[in-house]
Amino acid sequence: MQLFTRCPQCGQTVIDTKKFSFGSLLRVSWKCINGHEGSWNSCNETRGMADNNLLVAASTLFTGATYVDIADWAACLNVQIPQKTTFYAIQSSYLIPVVDVFYKEQQAKLLEDLRLQNVLQEGANLSGDGRSDSPGFSAKYCTYSMMDDVNKNVVHFELVQVTEATSSVAMEPEAFKRCVDFLLDSGLKIDVITTDRSPSIRKTMRVDYPRIQHEFDIWHVVKGFPRYNVVFPKHSKEWVARKIYEPTTQNFREELLVKVMERRSDTTVVFKDPTSQVVVPELPPNIATKPKMNKAAAIEKHVSRFQK
Ligand SMILES: [Zn+2]
Repeated sequence: MQLFTRCPQCGQTVIDTKKFSFGSLLRVSWKCINGHEGSWNSCNETRGMADNNLLVAASTLFTGATYVDIADWAACLNVQIPQKTTFYAIQSSYLIPVVDVFYKEQQAKLLEDLRLQNVLQEGANLSGDGRSDSPGFSAKYCTYSMMDDVNKNVVHFELVQVTEATSSVAMEPEAFKRCVDFLLDSGLKIDVITTDRSPSIRKTMRVDYPRIQHEFDIWHVVKGFPRYNVVFPKHSKEWVARKIYEPTTQNFREELLVKVMERRSDTTVVFKDPTSQVVVPELPPNIATKPKMNKAAAIEKHVSRFQK
C-alpha cells in the first residue's frame, strides 16, 4: 500500500484507500486531500471479468489438476483465487466449450491425415485399451481409447456408463465397439487392431470385424522404446541404466488459454447463461429399483449390525 500514499495527479497526500478483491483480482481505490479519486486493478479485465480468474481456472483444468487441490495450495500460501461456484461457472461457460471445439478440430485433422494415408498406402494400424474408474466388477465408467501406432496419436475414445451395458465387465467391449464403429463410419480403413487378450474383445473382433486383423501384442506397442543413460550413482557405487526423462510434448495449452480469452471477448457468450454452455448428454436414470432410504434410518441400520 506504499504506492498509494501520494496522489498521482497532484502529488498531495492520499487520505483514503479502500481494497476490494474479486477472486484473484485486487482493486485499490484512493482519494487525495484535493478530492482526486482513482482506482488501480492488479490485472486486466475482459468485459468485467478479471483475466486472472479466467486464467487460474483455465490453468487448473488444462494441467489436469482439480479445484480442491489448487484451492488448498492457494489458501496455504494466502493467494486469492475464485470461489468454487465461480470456478465451475467459468469451466462450463468458457473452458469446456473451448476444449470441445479444439478437440473436435484436432481429431478431424488426425482422421483426415489417416484417410490420406489410407489412399497412399494401406489401412491404419491401431491399438486400444480400456480403463475403468475402479478395478474389478464394481466399476461405473469405462473409457476405451484407440491410438494410431505410426504417429502415436490417440484418434478416438469412448466413455460408457455401467447402465448402458449389461454389467461393468461388459462396458469395455461396448466402448471398444463404439470406437471402431465411429472410426469406420468416419471413412477410415483399418487393417490391424492391437488389444489385450480380453475374451469379449476377441469375440467382438471375430464376429463384427472379421476383415480387420487382430493382434495381441499390446505391451510392445504401449511401452514404446524408452531411451536410457548408463550412470554411476554415488550411493550404490554401481553402474546402472536409468531411463531418460522425456518432458511433456503437449504444446496446445497456450493456444487453449488464448482461445479462452477470445471466448470471453465474444459478446454473444453470456457468463452463467445455460445456452452458452456445452450440453452434457443426459445420463441414464438411476439403477436403484427402490426409492432412496432416509439417511438417519440407513445409519441406524448400519450401526445396529455392530451392536448384536
Ligand atoms: Zn490529488
